[in-house]
Amino acid sequence: MSARVAATGSWTADDGARLPAGEVHAWEPGQNQTLCGVPLHRAGLRRFAGVAFTDVDPATGGSADAVREVCPRCLAATGASRRGRHPRWQRTDPRP
Ligand SMILES: [Zn+2]
Repeated sequence: MSARVAATGSWTADDGARLPAGEVHAWEPGQNQTLCGVPLHRAGLRRFAGVAFTDVDPATGGSADAVREVCPRCLAATGASRRGRHPRWQRTDPRP
């Protein structure tokens, strides 16, 4: 499972690829909100199903040219799985 990108803007690179711009969030295909809980439609976010969230990291990403800001909450939400090879998704499952 890898997060994709939702962003406030987009631009088209020289090779024709549509890339995110502005403020970016992590998004998983099939969801109608970002990883941090922002509704895509209400926030006017565009979806980039072909761009991995790790690619918009200004420090390391290859698709970060027009990215102004990466949502810190989405970074935190994906950080654990980026650092380790085994994502530690702990589902809180309270039992009665
Ligand atoms: Zn976010």
